[in-house]
Amino acid sequence: MREVEDSIDAAWQQLCAEVGTTDERDLAEVVLQDPSEFDWRVVDGALKQLSCPECGQGLGAGALECYRCELANGYRFAARETDRPGVAPGNEHAIRVSSAVARTRDRYTARARCGYELFLPDLLAGWLPTTAEAQRTKALINALDEDELEHLVDRDQLLQKEAL
Ligand SMILES: [Zn+2]
Repeated sequence: MREVEDSIDAAWQQLCAEVGTTDERDLAEVVLQDPSEFDWRVVDGALKQLSCPECGQGLGAGALECYRCELANGYRFAARETDRPGVAPGNEHAIRVSSAVARTRDRYTARARCGYELFLPDLLAGWLPTTAEAQRTKALINALDEDELEHLVDRDQLLQKEAL
C-alpha cells in the first residue's frame, strides 16, 4: 500500500510542478471536472487534496451512505489506465481497482476486499491472474469463515488451504 500511496503522491506532485500551481485544492477541482483526461493516480491524488463537504472524510473515502463520496469514488473509475512497460495488459486496471478497494476498505466487506488485497503485491510486480486463477481464488475466499478472512495475509496461505 505504501508503494501505491507513494506513486499517487508522486503523480500528483508531478502534475502540480507541470502546471506550476501552489493551490493544490484548486487544481484538484479542475482534475475532478474531467477525470478522463488524467491518469488514475493523478485523479486519486486530486481526491486526496479534498475533503467531503457532506461527511468530512477524505473525498470519496466516506461511508457508503454518503452520496457525495459515492459520486467522487466513481471519478476514480473514469480516469486513464496506462500499463507500465513489460507488464501483462490490463495489469494497471487491476492495480487501480485493487488499490481503490484497499485504500477505502471500510466501503467493502472483508470477503469482498480479501482477494483484491491479497493480489495487490503481485500486481505491483507486474503479474495478472488468469480468469481461472481469479475464479479459483474467489472460490477459496468464499469458503473461509470471518475469522480466517481476518487472519489471511498472503496468497500462498490461501493456496495452502486448498491443499489441505
Ligand atoms: Zn462523504
